Amino acid sequence: MSDQNLTTRTIIGMEIHVQLATRSKLFCGCAVEFGAQPNTRVCPVCLGMPGVLPVMNRQAVEFSVRTGVALNCRVSSFTKWDRKSYYYPDLPKNYQISQYDLPLCHDGYFELDGNGSPRRIGIIRAHLEEDAGKNIHDTPGCTLVDLNRTGTPLLEIVTEPDLASADEAYEFAVELQRLVTYLGVSEGSMQKGQMRFEPNVNVAITRDGVEYRTPICEIKNLNSFKAIRGAIDYESRRQIQDWMADNGYLQKQRPNENRGWNDDRGITEVQRTKEEAHDYRYFPDPDLVPVELDQAWLAEVEASLPELPRQRRARLVTDFGMSAKDAETIVGDRATADLLEAAVAAGGTPKLLAKQFVNVWSKLARQREVSIAALGVDAARMGALARLVDDGTVSATAANQIAERMLEEGDSPQALAETLGLVRVVDTDQTAQWVEEALAANEKAVKTVLTNPKKAKASEGFLRGQVMRISGGQADPKLAGEMIARRIEEIRKSSGG
Ligand code: ZN
Ligand code: MN
Repeated sequence: MSDQNLTTRTIIGMEIHVQLATRSKLFCGCAVEFGAQPNTRVCPVCLGMPGVLPVMNRQAVEFSVRTGVALNCRVSSFTKWDRKSYYYPDLPKNYQISQYDLPLCHDGYFELDGNGSPRRIGIIRAHLEEDAGKNIHDTPGCTLVDLNRTGTPLLEIVTEPDLASADEAYEFAVELQRLVTYLGVSEGSMQKGQMRFEPNVNVAITRDGVEYRTPICEIKNLNSFKAIRGAIDYESRRQIQDWMADNGYLQKQRPNENRGWNDDRGITEVQRTKEEAHDYRYFPDPDLVPVELDQAWLAEVEASLPELPRQRRARLVTDFGMSAKDAETIVGDRATADLLEAAVAAGGTPKLLAKQFVNVWSKLARQREVSIAALGVDAARMGALARLVDDGTVSATAANQIAERMLEEGDSPQALAETLGLVRVVDTDQTAQWVEEALAANEKAVKTVLTNPKKAKASEGFLRGQVMRISGGQADPKLAGEMIARRIEEIRKSSGG
C-alpha cells in the first residue's frame, strides 16, 4: 500500500510448536497417541499428582538436537528445565515444564529458495517443552477436559522477525514441515495439530521519511498453510488501515495483542491480552536434573542427518536434469525420492528415470491417491523399465502400459513388454504397411502436408501419431517419421507437384 509519501513493510516473526514423534511422553511412559479414548493415556506424572517424579525422554532430546542442527543452530552442552506457571483447566500441574533462559538450541538460520533469490530466516531458539491437554467446548453447558495430550513433547521454534510477506511465511511453513518430516522427528500433520504456527505481525510505515511501527499482534494457533497466508495478509492490511484512520495516534497507546484467525469470516479477532514474561514466574524445576550433552554423542547425531530437502532438490536438478518444480514434487516425499535414487543405483538412467517418475509413476500414484513409493514397485524393476526405453526396446508411450501392469504382476518389464506385444518393431516392411494404412485413412492430413508449408510439420507429426496408434505402440517413431516423409515425397513427385 502506498500514496505519494507513504511506504509500508510487513514484519513477521514466527513461533512454531512441533510435536515430536516419540512413542511416549516427555516426562512419563504414557503413549503419545492421537484419537484415543479421552483420558486413557494418562498416569500420575502427567496428571500432576503430588509426590510424583518426572523422568526425561532421551529420544525427545535427540529429535530436538537433530532439528536444531538442521536449522544451523548452536546446541547447548548444558541446559535445564524450568517451570512456567499458569493456571488453566487443561494444565493439571498449574505449570508447564519448559526451558526459559537456556534453550537446547539457539542462534541458527533456515534458508529459503525464495523464488530464485534465497533468503535467510534467523532462528532465535528452539527449546523443548511439554504440551497441555485439550479443553473441548462442544457440549452445551459444560467444558470437557481431555488430558491425553498432556505431557506430549513439543519443540518450540522461534524465528527472528525476518519474514517479509504472507507468501514468504507460507513458504517458510511449507519448508519447515518438509524439514521435520525428512528428519523423521515429527509427522508434521497440521490437521492433527502436530505443527501449530503463531506469526507475530506488525508493519513499519514510513511517511515523509519518518518510520512508524504498528503494535505487534500475535496470531494464535494457525493449523493450515492457507490460514497462515490468509491471517498475515489480513492482519497487515488491518494494521495499516487502523494506523491511517488516526495517523497512529491511538495505536501508540495500545499494547501488543493476541488475535485468533476466524477461518469462516477470513478475519482475525482479539483474544486475551498478552501476559508479560514475568507473569509466568519461571523458575528451575527442582524435580529434574539439568541436561549435559556429551560431545561425542552430539557429533554422532550430526553425522546421522540425512541430506536436507533443499540440498536434495538442487542435486536432482543438476544431476537428474529435473525442473525445479518436478524436483520439489519428488523430494516432497522422502520415501519417493529415496526410491528414485535406489532405481538409479539399480542401473536406470537418471534422466529417463526422473522423467518416468514425473510422467508415468506419478500419474499411476495420483489415480490411486498414494505416493509413488507406496505403489509397491521395487527400485530394481523401475530401473529395468527405464533401461527398456533407454535402449529402444520399447517406446516411451509403451512404458506407460508396462508400468501399469507392473503394479499387478511381478514379471520383469521385458517379459511384460513381450506379453503385451509392445516390443518395438524396427521392421521396414511392417512399418511401411502401417504408414500406408495411416496415409490412406487420413487423406486430409496428407493434402495439408503437400499444400500448406505452414502446417506441414504439424500434420506430419499427426500422421506419425497415427502410425503409432495403428501399430499399438510397436512402431519405432523415428523410422515411422522417416518413412512418412519418404512416402509423401513420392506422392508429390507422382502428382507432378
Ligand atoms: Zn503419563
Ligand atoms: Mn510454547
